[in-house]
Amino acid sequence: MIIVKKISQMRSLIAQTRARCKTIGFVPTMGAFHEGHLSLFRRSGKENDLSVVSIFVNPLQFGPAEDFQNYPRQFKTDEKFAKKGNVDIIFYPSEKEMYPDRYLTYIQVHQLTEGLCGRSRPGHFRGVTTVIGKLLNIITPQVMYLGHKDYQQALVLEKMAKDLNFHCQVKILPTIREKNGLAMSSRNHHLTEQQRNEAPALYQSLQLAHQLIHQGERRPKKIIQAMKEFIEQTSSGRVDYIECVNAQNLKPCQEIQGTILIALAAWFNRTRLIDNTRIRIT
Ligand code: AMP
Repeated sequence: MIIVKKISQMRSLIAQTRARCKTIGFVPTMGAFHEGHLSLFRRSGKENDLSVVSIFVNPLQFGPAEDFQNYPRQFKTDEKFAKKGNVDIIFYPSEKEMYPDRYLTYIQVHQLTEGLCGRSRPGHFRGVTTVIGKLLNIITPQVMYLGHKDYQQALVLEKMAKDLNFHCQVKILPTIREKNGLAMSSRNHHLTEQQRNEAPALYQSLQLAHQLIHQGERRPKKIIQAMKEFIEQTSSGRVDYIECVNAQNLKPCQEIQGTILIALAAWFNRTRLIDNTRIRIT
C-alpha cells in the first residue's frame, strides 16, 4: 500500500498504472475508519485492478459552527484498516495541496441539495461536490463507491458525475450498522457511553416507520410524528429533521407511494447523526 500526499505524485502513479490496470476503483473518505468504510474498500478492491482511497477532512463542507476542528483524525489506525481492505493507494493531501492560495472555483448541484441536510447545513453540499469533483479529476476512477448512510450525498454526487460528464460510475452500498442498529459513523466517536446506548433509537424509529407503513399508514405526517415522539421519548436525541421524500428527486411526498426515502438527522448534545431507509411500496 502506498501513501501519496501530492497531486503530482498521484497523477504520475495513475499514469504509470493505467497501462496495466484496466479499472480504478475509488472510495472518498474523511478518515476515522470503521466497518462501513471497510465494506466500501473491500468492494472496490474486489471489483477493480487498482483501489484508491482518499482521506481528506474537507474544510469546505463544514459550516463555521460545525465540528471541523474536532472531527476525529487517526491516520495510523486508518492505515491498518485500509490494509485490511486491500487498498492499493491512500491519497492523503493537505489542505494547501487541495486549496492553494487564491482558490476560486466551486461546483454546485441544485434542487437535490436544497432539502434534508442541505437545509440544516447551508453550503455543505457545495463543499462536497467541489472536493469530489477535484478528486475525480486527479484519480480518474471508473467507479466510485459511496455509502447509503449518506444517501443525499450519494445522489448529489451521482448527478454531478452525470451532468459534468465525469467518466465514472457511482455505486451506492448498504449502511453497515452496529449490532444494536446504530449506523456506523466516524462521529460516533464523540458520543458518551450513555448516548451510544440511546442513539440506536434513530434506527428503531426507522423500523417503526416500516412497521406503520406495513400496517397501512400512508400519511407522511403521521409517520414523522410517531418517529419524532419515539426518539424524544426513548433518548436524549433532539430531532433536526425527519422527512419522507421521493427517493429519486428527494422532494417531500404528500402520500407514501412508489419508492420513498425516510431520512432523519438528530443531535446528541453537540454530535449530529443521520440515518435513513428506503422503502418500496408495491
Ligand atoms: P465519511 O468518511 O464519513 O465521509 O464517509 C466516506 C464514505 O463512507 C461515504 O460514502 C459514506 O456514505 C460511507 N459510509 C459512512 N458510514 C457508513 C456506513 N455505516 N455504512 C456504509 N457506508 C458508510
